[in-house]
Amino acid sequence: MKCKFLGGADMVGRMGMTMEGDDMTALIEYGMSPTKPPEYPLPAPRVDYAFLTHAHLDHCGMMPQVCGKSECDLFTTPLSAEIGELMMHDTLKIAKAENYPMPYTTGDIERTMKAVVPMTYDDQITINHIDVTMLDAGHIPGAAMFQFDKDVTTIYSGDIHTEPQKLVYGAKPHDCTNLFIEGTYGGRNHPDRAKTEADFLAKIDEVISRGGKVLIPCFAVGRTQEIMILLRNLKNEMWVDGMGRSVTRLFLDYPEYIRDVKHLKAAKRKFNEVKNANSRDAAKNGEIIVTTGGMLDGGPILGYLDAIRDDPKSAILLVGYQAEDTNGRLLMEEGCVKINNEIKKIACEVQKYDFSAHADHSQIVDFIKGCDPDNVIIMHSEAREAFLPDLQDYNVILPETGVAFDLDF
Ligand SMILES: [Zn+2]
Ligand SMILES: [Zn+2]
Repeated sequence: MKCKFLGGADMVGRMGMTMEGDDMTALIEYGMSPTKPPEYPLPAPRVDYAFLTHAHLDHCGMMPQVCGKSECDLFTTPLSAEIGELMMHDTLKIAKAENYPMPYTTGDIERTMKAVVPMTYDDQITINHIDVTMLDAGHIPGAAMFQFDKDVTTIYSGDIHTEPQKLVYGAKPHDCTNLFIEGTYGGRNHPDRAKTEADFLAKIDEVISRGGKVLIPCFAVGRTQEIMILLRNLKNEMWVDGMGRSVTRLFLDYPEYIRDVKHLKAAKRKFNEVKNANSRDAAKNGEIIVTTGGMLDGGPILGYLDAIRDDPKSAILLVGYQAEDTNGRLLMEEGCVKINNEIKKIACEVQKYDFSAHADHSQIVDFIKGCDPDNVIIMHSEAREAFLPDLQDYNVILPETGVAFDLDF
């Protein structure tokens, strides 16, 4: 099989890989980096089959560019398909608002949804004499790994976490010969999750006790719900705003992908939902606000931030990755953010907590050892070399975007 990364080989963002062989071309993931302006993977050829691991934008955002324009089957979980559809429409909305060229049309999104062949964990299909099995990736609800069996077994991880989170259980290793594995956390390990959760809850209590408000910027898919579940037993007035609300509803439509759906239902009941401008004003007087965007670059977060920015008693608790050149990074490094093209000083306390949905360095190494492959292909990482000392027993491949390589399977 000839494999070629179209993006995301050596970075976290705009994933895409083609597999060519046996008179067929397949594409695994086709995403975008939601930077300003967005960054896309290399153009994809016509494909017969497409595989989507999960509905984060860096994995799904450009699928309509391929599946909307060529006749193909798109294998993914029904939950990832529905959330993906939401993300794709949001991508067009942002492109329009920011005057970026449209990467595809709403018709392309419709055709992409028609191409979906829903699969769930442990389901198997056969394409061109290759048995394809979907496996649980443990990253966010609906996230999948794909296992390809022909002469040998090949696994493509997508994004994974191997430890349980509030929303999902962790991924389990499977024996294989070739393992494509994400390496987001190369060289870094997470602090203890239980301690992080305890520190986070203690900080919220401290901020509210001193008369401040707590603003928690969250990504819509996964992190919003993870945080809501964590806060579900608090007695405070809590509000949720942004696209995370629709994603929560979709998660509840597919309870089979949720670790404990009762907890998510309880969390949803506990939070007031912002539905219009009036309730947004009410939310500004609440105690805890969970809202998109996760990197403070757009969405309702900016309005809330503007409302509390001069209040040193209030706090902004960051719970997700803050990429370079984002408001989130600016806030962490310089204590200010850009609102309506104006740099504004933020007087609030700012803290960051590690609630990552990715396996860390040691967990990835353990997962690789559990799969016991011959070949390890590391992707989705800016620190791939950090794995090399721990993987001396394996043939490690660090692919380059745009450079094809052969792999027997
Ligand atoms: Zn992801
Ligand atoms: Zn990713």
